[in-house]
Amino acid sequence: MTTALSRSWEHAVVTGGAGFVGSHLCAALLDAGAAVTCVDDFSTGRAENISPLLERPGFTLVQADVTEGLPVKRRPDLVLHFASPASPADYLRLPLHTLETGSLGTRNALDLAHSSRARFVLASSSEVYGDPRQHPQDERYWGNVNPVGPRSVYGEAKRFGEALTTAHAETRGTDTCIVRLFNTYGPRMRGQDGRVVPAFVRQALAGEPLTVAGDGRQTRSLCYVDDTVRGVLAAAAHGMRGPVNIGSPTEISMLDLARLIVELAGSASEIRPVARPVDDPAVRCPDITLARDKLGWEPQVRAEEGLRRAIAWFREDATAD
Ligand code: NAD
Ligand code: UDP
Repeated sequence: MTTALSRSWEHAVVTGGAGFVGSHLCAALLDAGAAVTCVDDFSTGRAENISPLLERPGFTLVQADVTEGLPVKRRPDLVLHFASPASPADYLRLPLHTLETGSLGTRNALDLAHSSRARFVLASSSEVYGDPRQHPQDERYWGNVNPVGPRSVYGEAKRFGEALTTAHAETRGTDTCIVRLFNTYGPRMRGQDGRVVPAFVRQALAGEPLTVAGDGRQTRSLCYVDDTVRGVLAAAAHGMRGPVNIGSPTEISMLDLARLIVELAGSASEIRPVARPVDDPAVRCPDITLARDKLGWEPQVRAEEGLRRAIAWFREDATAD
């Protein structure tokens, strides 16, 4: 299946553009002929992610915290709001920053889109479904989120961001879209950001034990970053308001993932059980019927292939620490 939808943009603002997903989005938009302004405060992003883009015509970097505003000089026709810590280790370390980026930052990004008459896309998350009681999760499911648990700073910020985006569309007529991303992985993740793929790959390559949380039976559905970027841009091009799930429908347990990464990396690492994080969701898998039907989108990169590419990148990239 190929994604049918494309649309050309003149100038896209990507908040969080120096992060993992944001830097791939910036590159894809430049490839498609758009000028791109990346707004990032480098709280969890890395200069290395965008240093190759700095030399490309049409790319501008604005170092700013979106909670204080988006100092963008040229009017955009697309605003992709991707700024937010995303790794549990990062948002547990930055709880207030995460809440403020999801609230004040989202408000500022929406206001820029509205005043520019630009299309707005909010990077929401499968975390809005919390520890789900419906499986797989479709967009009509309201979720099961602990509002005072440690993960709430992220899950509730995303839920608030969705409510704010909806209210902006309803009351101001802003052209908005909500994409709910599920676990995405690939090159440019920080090896130490704590998320499962970079953690396991780094450990496997170093011959260290793989730290599997609990009994490892909890599942995630892993989407390669190129597929996620294609899905986000298809949703941007479509007039849909969403929310729409963008993620892989192929589910894997964390124990099986650890074994697969050890095998693909040709490693002799062992498995070491470690404590399971509080409120760690037991299952997570998107129903992507809506994305398939409306956007003609589904992931194309199988897990083995995507993991091989990620392993190769971590093996070769000296900055991936
Ligand atoms: P990341 O941490 O690599 O990137 C986030 C970027 O946002 C970083 O460059 C960081 O410096 C920047 N940022 C954070 N707060 C900011 C602020 N106040 N002002 C300006 N910049 C700020 O994370 P990622 O994995 O690339 O995630 C990007 C977006 O996608 C996030 O909104 C995240 O919630 C969402 N998302 C990602 C995943 C995933 O699996 N990667 C899944 C669901 C949702
Ligand atoms: N996990 C793990 N070992 C690690 C890091 C994470 O077993 O070193 C588990 C984690 O407990 C969760 C899953 O892997 O069950 C995915 O965690 P991640 O932090 O990547 O993302 P989440 O989906 O929880 O936001």
